[in-house]
Amino acid sequence: MTMAYSHILDLIGSTPLIRLDGPSDATGCEILGKAEFLNPGGSVKDRAALNIVREAEADGTLRPGGTIVEGTAGNTGIGLALVGGALGYPVIIVMPRTQSDEKKQAIRSFGARLIEVDAAPFSSPNHFVHYSRRLAEELNASNPAGAIWANQFDNLANRRAHEKSTGPEIWQQTGGRIDGFICAAGTGGTLAGTAASLRSFKPEIAIGVADPAGAALYSYYTQGELRGEGSSITEGIGVNRITGNLEGLKIDHAYRIEDAEMLPVLYDLVRHEGLSLGGSAGVNIAGAMRLARDLGPGKTIVTMLCDVGARYAGKLFNPEFLASRGLPIPPWTDTEASPATA
Ligand code: PMP
Repeated sequence: MTMAYSHILDLIGSTPLIRLDGPSDATGCEILGKAEFLNPGGSVKDRAALNIVREAEADGTLRPGGTIVEGTAGNTGIGLALVGGALGYPVIIVMPRTQSDEKKQAIRSFGARLIEVDAAPFSSPNHFVHYSRRLAEELNASNPAGAIWANQFDNLANRRAHEKSTGPEIWQQTGGRIDGFICAAGTGGTLAGTAASLRSFKPEIAIGVADPAGAALYSYYTQGELRGEGSSITEGIGVNRITGNLEGLKIDHAYRIEDAEMLPVLYDLVRHEGLSLGGSAGVNIAGAMRLARDLGPGKTIVTMLCDVGARYAGKLFNPEFLASRGLPIPPWTDTEASPATA
């Protein structure tokens, strides 16, 4: 290896595909995961962050020294902090207090200022998205270099990131041998952008959404009505409205994935494949297994491995937290078991 990258941003995207042996063998399909956790900010959201900033530079709304403001569940904040740091823009992130400490620490460690707000419904003016929009407007008026609101939910630069990069990468990596693509939606940028690209290569590809409990897309795509039921410990996914990025998306298969279905899939991957993933990846893989069973054996299905388990260590791998919710506990964290049986 003699080549050196000239910039950290050159490492965003071009992530490998990994065959997930357990899920593939259980379904008789090839289930492949795109290793988005290898992006430099540690998640799929680096792609959207980079493209949102690049498009804002190109259309002149982001000027040298301008501030980038965003409301986020975390990973977009990490991505924007990384991109802002690399390109010299200050970054301010507004985040609900309920999100994991690990993600808050990552945002600070990438140099962004973090403002934590109480969780509030989207209809409330104090919801983190509205709060961040107002902050960007105020800063844009008062700061000579201006400010932009990244607006990942409705800014189509998010979806275009995946249309330009994720989709074509998957098509190339599978050599066109792909029958289905499925993932969960936070903003919907990954799902809608990747689906648009893959459909342009292969119109008959099956596109699925894996929706955590509490989110409204499952009922929307199966019954035409936005309705969320229950709740989930996953973060970064589970939307209750049709965002700008989801508008116009056609879904062929929709699944509701409960935490109790997703967690054993995650734990098996840790124990048997050395893969430690976050909850959204667990929902994605459980969704890919459902799609595999619906499409039948011999098919190739791709999904997203959005980030790693360490980002949620206090929840996904914390037996007390899981027990308090009545959820499955990773067998190796059971301190009651003797080493011989653990
Ligand atoms: N997984 C995780 C861990 C995330 O943080 C996000 C983004 N909120 C997603 C999945 C969903 O990505 P998208 O916003 O593109 O729908």
